[in-house]
Amino acid sequence: MNLTGLHLLLTYQCNYECDHCFVWGSPAQQGVMTLAQVRDVYRQAQELGTVEMVYLEGGEPFLYYPIMVRAAREAFELGLQVGIVTNDYWATTVEDAVEWLRPLAGVVDDLSISTDLFHYDEVSSAQARNALAAAEQLGIASGTLTCEVPVGIAGYPAQAAGEPVESDAIMFKGRAAVKLVEGVARRPWREFDECPHERLGDPGRVHVDCYGHLHLCQGLTMGSLFERSLVELVTAYEPAAHPIVGPLLTGGPAALVERYSLPHEEAYVDACHLCYEMRRALRERFPEHLGPAQMYGESS
Ligand code: SF4
Repeated sequence: MNLTGLHLLLTYQCNYECDHCFVWGSPAQQGVMTLAQVRDVYRQAQELGTVEMVYLEGGEPFLYYPIMVRAAREAFELGLQVGIVTNDYWATTVEDAVEWLRPLAGVVDDLSISTDLFHYDEVSSAQARNALAAAEQLGIASGTLTCEVPVGIAGYPAQAAGEPVESDAIMFKGRAAVKLVEGVARRPWREFDECPHERLGDPGRVHVDCYGHLHLCQGLTMGSLFERSLVELVTAYEPAAHPIVGPLLTGGPAALVERYSLPHEEAYVDACHLCYEMRRALRERFPEHLGPAQMYGESS
């Protein structure tokens, strides 16, 4: 396992509560990473020796602005590349956005700016445009993360009405698997015989939260690095022996249904929808691999 990227979920909290959010971010969500925990994660990353880049994300990391800035600076001082993912709520004007970003100039290698019809009432929001302009002024490399509104979902304006932007299909896991599946076309569950998005056999990057959980995919963990060291977890990782990853590697989410004889519907929207529902059904049986409650919408 050659782990080069660590994505720190600085908080599960967010000022927004988007329907497509993988991690169930919301103002009421629990769980914030402390500076001491950030430093512990960095120390363990240094000990492992293969990590090249950290991302600071959430939830919304700008909600804990001084901690985020300190975490970015300390990663930079350790020689790590630094990325930040934000919903750009703070970019009220270009002038103000410059002030928010100024402490990150020369430190952050990638500012990823979420903007779409799940976050705002236009695909390319004023906040995103302000944040992009401010980042350019400061010489911070930046780009947008935009999720498409799937065909069939009620309550959202047609994406075509917005200006053309590059966008990605959403994955129906987390809150999206609960809030957005109504009205979307489905396929028979047996067709979902592989994980289309994560390299579960040899993950190059994982997410870590304030409980130390190392997430291979949101809510699917390989242990806690506050209980065992990152070196130990990476060394001991045996994908085929992991009770959830093993089936996913041999036959995708459909293999979870078969391996554990799980009750299921006849059709699902995508592989993540089936995977998320089957993992939710297995939570009590494999609590050390499927959690925390935040990732399954059970805590806020
Ligand atoms: S199929 Fe499962 S493991 Fe793969 S990306 Fe989707 S939810 Fe994650």
